Amino acid sequence: MEPFWGRIEHAAMAEGGIGDEDALVVLALPRESLWRLLDVTERVRSRFKGDGIRLCSIVNAKSGHCSEDCSFCSQSRRSKADIPKFPLIDAESMVEAARSAKERGAREFSIVASGLSMGSREELEKVGDAVEKISRELGLETCVSLGTLPAETVAYLISRGLRSIHHNLETSRSFFPSVCTTHDYDRDVDAVRTAKKAGAWVCCGGIFGLGESDADRVELAMTLRELDVDSIPVNFLNPVEGTPSEGKRELTPIQCIKIIAMLRLVHPDREIIVCGGREVNLRDLQCLMFAAGATGTMVGNYLTTSGRPGEEDQRMISDLSLSVRSL
Ligand code: SF4
Repeated sequence: MEPFWGRIEHAAMAEGGIGDEDALVVLALPRESLWRLLDVTERVRSRFKGDGIRLCSIVNAKSGHCSEDCSFCSQSRRSKADIPKFPLIDAESMVEAARSAKERGAREFSIVASGLSMGSREELEKVGDAVEKISRELGLETCVSLGTLPAETVAYLISRGLRSIHHNLETSRSFFPSVCTTHDYDRDVDAVRTAKKAGAWVCCGGIFGLGESDADRVELAMTLRELDVDSIPVNFLNPVEGTPSEGKRELTPIQCIKIIAMLRLVHPDREIIVCGGREVNLRDLQCLMFAAGATGTMVGNYLTTSGRPGEEDQRMISDLSLSVRSL
């Protein structure tokens, strides 16, 4: 095993990341190798990204009634989950949510709306107004997650002060048809390419625990590298009652840690932000996500599920002698 550890560390430190064969080995490592793995990933994270942890927060700005059928999502057309459903909230409510997020220590704030694309010009301008205020008045980095946006919409939002576009690929191209049948993978890939080309910082990752294999996880990681995404949000399935994923429990906390570690080694110098499902999937191993290579996490509530109090995350970070990255 010794040549393996040297090889993956060298690949991450000096060659832009490990290849797909080593990524598969990382995911299959036995429990006894976990500390050795974290020893490598902690060094890689620290070298490229330092010890400052980035905190992000979101507002659910438009909920439910989505035309798409993503199996994990409580807002999808297949879902019978009992969640609040509402049209786009007004710009002032978005700004208010950003203000609370800033008080919780977030440096980035994202406006998230259900659906495959933004509706009317009126909706878009509402988001533009909020983005401008959040960025100018609160000084937060702004992000939107509004589906697959055309180039002119991205350009408009950037002109209003937007920094980042979030759009997940969710899983590998091979596994995607088992997750969503209402649009194809290329639509998502094109949206990511469009956002990159328009000059946005691109936040694009996926959700794990849907029934995908280790090969699918590595395939997704490699696609994200090809697309040169800037930041990778990592979600773990929190199977909501009433969705097709209800009752699904695929991941152990150690598997989640190895997924984060694999992503760090494939993407040595990118942000890796652990988001939805971390509390229920990582449980008491949450603090190991940073040694595994995470550079950030989401604080506050998720779209339709609750997060834990922000003070607990702040305490976890300071207990680890890490710091919260400031603006
Ligand atoms: S993940 Fe997005 S596109 Fe898919 S069902 Fe949920 S809101 Fe719609």
